[in-house]
Amino acid sequence: MAHSWSGNLVTTKNWEHFWLNEGWTTFFERKIVGRLEGEDARQLSAVIGVNDLKSAVEFFGEDNPLTALVPKLEGIDPDDAFSTVPYDKGFNLLYYLEQLLGGPKVFEPYMRAYIHEFQGKSITTDDWKSFLFKYIERNHPEKVASLNSVDWDGWLYKPGMPPVRNQFDMRPQQVTIDLAQK
Ligand SMILES: [Zn+2]
Repeated sequence: MAHSWSGNLVTTKNWEHFWLNEGWTTFFERKIVGRLEGEDARQLSAVIGVNDLKSAVEFFGEDNPLTALVPKLEGIDPDDAFSTVPYDKGFNLLYYLEQLLGGPKVFEPYMRAYIHEFQGKSITTDDWKSFLFKYIERNHPEKVASLNSVDWDGWLYKPGMPPVRNQFDMRPQQVTIDLAQK
């Protein structure tokens, strides 16, 4: 269902920007899970996602260019580049931005605006990023400095784990571990 908006209504221009489909959809999906099942379920899903991301980075190798959120795919079969990286690194970027910009009350209206802006179009990461800046400049000018402080090169183009580790709530996972050990 989440893909109806991110991936279908707004879609990637080519496979280098696949995270616009999958990272955004993972982010939408976990928003929906949070509304339906509660914040614990969303946090648990995010923690599982980070573990999946770590496994993918280990599998490819942390210096492997295919672990960049926006990889260069010239001469590379997109199938060979496929991994959880666009899903969970993309999710982590959006989660980080949401926290940085003031939480859901700022970010959720932006999500709606993003979909409206690009509906029916195929876009690149630069299109996404310039609209984010335009939206924040227009609606939350006091947050522009935060946006400028983001390590964009690290998040988008460097291989390996993200430059910032999000702090997720580990308690829901601990409950399941304790239960399994019992
Ligand atoms: Zn998908």
